Amino acid sequence: MASKSVLNDSKQVERAVALIQLGARLQVLESETDLSYERLLRLYKEVAGRSPSKGQLPFSTEWFLTWQPNIHASLFQNTYEYLTKVSAMEDIDAVMAAYRLYTEQIAACGVEPLLSITRAWRLVKFIDNNMLSMTKCSKCGGHFVSEAYENTRHFECGLCTPPARAGKGSAIGGILLH
Ligand SMILES: [Zn+2]
Repeated sequence: MASKSVLNDSKQVERAVALIQLGARLQVLESETDLSYERLLRLYKEVAGRSPSKGQLPFSTEWFLTWQPNIHASLFQNTYEYLTKVSAMEDIDAVMAAYRLYTEQIAACGVEPLLSITRAWRLVKFIDNNMLSMTKCSKCGGHFVSEAYENTRHFECGLCTPPARAGKGSAIGGILLH
């Protein structure tokens, strides 16, 4: 039993370190590991080389529905849902794996990532809690983050119907339409 808990402990530490390296807020670590606050704080300082930022997490669903963030969030969520379907990964590990893939794809497009790991983690929770959902675009057929009870018949995504102010040349646009 002692060895089992040592193994579990090292797994928890490994997960916490990976989350810190991805830039997660302390609240995410508290929620996703069994490690004490004091221990997480020490780990955070050691790995990040600074104290964790204070203050509230972003709690609003609104951000995910604004034009460009929505495209980034949708890219992440599609990847996350794919990973949880095809693998037996635990949810938080799938969040991290999907987030890494998201940042790689974004970098390949020469675009700055808008979605932080903390927001990605929140997004999964919002969708789990039916505060947001994924809706199929009636034009391109891609799946996008939307209001929880979006009208699927008329839903058009931000790539098919960008806001007037968007102008042309959204480099990231192509990603979801591949
Ligand atoms: Zn579309």
